[in-house]
Amino acid sequence: AKEIGRDAVQVFTFELADRAHEKLERQEELRRALAQTEFFLQYQPQMDLVTGRIFAVEALIRWRHPERGIVSPGEFIPLAEETGLIGPIGDWTLRTACRQNKAWQLSGLPPIVVSVNVSARQFQERDWVERVAAALEESGLEARYLELELTESLIMEDVQQAVETMHRLEQLGVHLAIDDFGTGYSSLSSLKRFPVGRLKIDRSFVQDLPGDSDDAAIATAVISLGHLLQLRVIAEGVETREQLDFLREAGCDEIQGYHISRPIDAMALQALLCLSEC
Ligand code: C2E
Ligand code: CA
Ligand code: CA
Ligand code: CA
Repeated sequence: AKEIGRDAVQVFTFELADRAHEKLERQEELRRALAQTEFFLQYQPQMDLVTGRIFAVEALIRWRHPERGIVSPGEFIPLAEETGLIGPIGDWTLRTACRQNKAWQLSGLPPIVVSVNVSARQFQERDWVERVAAALEESGLEARYLELELTESLIMEDVQQAVETMHRLEQLGVHLAIDDFGTGYSSLSSLKRFPVGRLKIDRSFVQDLPGDSDDAAIATAVISLGHLLQLRVIAEGVETREQLDFLREAGCDEIQGYHISRPIDAMALQALLCLSEC
C-alpha cells in the first residue's frame, strides 16, 4: 500500500507539472496567434421582430489554429483574461469589427450596428475609453454604429467605476448592452443607473421555451422589466420557430440565434444583408 501511495503522489505531481507546462505553451501560442493574426471574426445577425430587418450583428472571435483547426472563444478567452492578453486581443477585435462595419457601409449596404463583447479586464483598463475612441477614429465608423456588450458580473465588480466609464462611453455616442442578462445579479436600483439601451436575455432562459414554465415566466418578466426601464430587449440563442413565436407574443423586440443564422464570415454576412436589403 505504501508503494502505491508513493506512486500516486508522483503521478499527481507529474500531472500538475504537465498542466502548468501546457498552460505556458497555450499562452505562448496565444501570443503567436495575435502576432500572426490567426484570429478572425464571425458575425451573427440580430433581427428586429417587428420589421423583420437585420439591424445589427454580434462580432464573435475565433482562432484558426494551425494544427487544432478552429478553436472557439470559450476555450481561449479565459486564458487570455488570466494572462492579460485579452488587452491586445480585445483591441484587435474592436478595431477589426469597426473596420469591417465601415467596409460594409462603403460597399453600399444599409448601415447596421456591430456589437462587440467586452471582458472585465479590458473594461477596467485606465485608457479603455480612449481605445474605443481610437478604434472609431481609425476606422472612420460613426460611434452610433458600435455597441459594446457588458455582462452583469463585469458591471457589478465595481458598480461606481463601471457607471462612470459607461457614461464616458455614452458621451462618445456608442451604444451599450447588458449581455447574459438574468445570470448575474444586478439590483433593480442599480439597473436604473446604467446608461444602457438594451438587455440581452441569456440563452439559458430561451433554450427550453416555450415548454418550461419557469423560463417562460422569467423571459416574460425580463421583457416587462426592460420595457419599464425603456430598454430594448433581445433574446439570444433562439433556435426554433416556437421560441420565436413565444418571444414575439411576449413583446420581445429582437432576436438572435441559429433560427435566423449561425455566426458567419464577413463575406457571407454581406451576401445575406444584400439578399434582404439590396
Ligand atoms: P456570448 O457573448 O453569450 O455569445 C453568444 C454565444 O452563443 C456564441 O458562442 C454564439 O455562437 C452562440 N450562439 C448563438 N446563437 C446560438 C443558438 O441559437 N444556439 C446555441 N446553442 N448557441 C448560439 P461563441 O461564439 O462560442 O462565444 C462564446 C462566448 O465567448 C461568448 O458568449 C462571449 O462571452 C465570448 N466571446 C466571443 N467573442 C468574444 C470577443 O471578441 N471578446 C470577448 N471578450 N469575448 C468573446
Ligand atoms: Ca455577447
Ligand atoms: Ca450572451
Ligand atoms: Ca429551465
